[in-house]
Amino acid sequence: MAQNTCNRCGECCRQGGPALHERDLGLVRDGKIPISSLITIKKGELTHNPLTGVIQPTGVELIKITGKGKQWECCYYDEQKGCTIYESRPQACVLLKCWDTKDILDLVEKETLSRFDILGPDDPMIPAMREHDHICPGPDFLYLKDRTSRLSVQQEKELEEQVRDDLRFRTRVTGDLNIKLDEELFYFGRPLFQLLQMLGAVVSESRSGVTLRWEI
Ligand code: SF4
Ligand code: SF4
Repeated sequence: MAQNTCNRCGECCRQGGPALHERDLGLVRDGKIPISSLITIKKGELTHNPLTGVIQPTGVELIKITGKGKQWECCYYDEQKGCTIYESRPQACVLLKCWDTKDILDLVEKETLSRFDILGPDDPMIPAMREHDHICPGPDFLYLKDRTSRLSVQQEKELEEQVRDDLRFRTRVTGDLNIKLDEELFYFGRPLFQLLQMLGAVVSESRSGVTLRWEI
């Protein structure tokens, strides 16, 4: 018989936590999902788009529930208990029916929440977030992913400088404002060097600072 109900097998939870949407704002504001459980995927970063089935730059900023360590498995998923916030799970989890994906696909990159929606205009972190967006706007990730030849020396130098700017900013601001790592990933997204590592950059650190090397 064709599946027509969720048996809470957790397969979708193991593939990663959901992005948050407007209807989820109360969950964050009420503390049911704290910002330490969220990670920002900035506009332009590469994600798997379920509508097209390919890795492509996201057209909007996405706020996702974090994974576990380096795994994307949702941090609220427990092998024995299943979803540990089931009554307060986000809209995307409520709509997800693995046997009929129409509702969830209709939601892709629509009515999404950004950091600015979640915090509101008067939050004291807003100036630091805007400063970081200005200092580290992010390179053309799709170009870097699809490159077929070595980057020019100039391109490599520019990327290295952006990585250093990003790290300098994070070191300064997280120290000054006493921000923990799990909150940093919400306020400023993932460090640029990590995003570049996923595209093949080999990152090393020496006395002269961070250097990048590319396989091709
Ligand atoms: S939606 Fe499907 S994959 Fe997800 S928990 Fe339910 S049955 Fe499992
Ligand atoms: S919030 Fe709950 S239902 Fe949603 S992905 Fe995480 S564990 Fe699964």
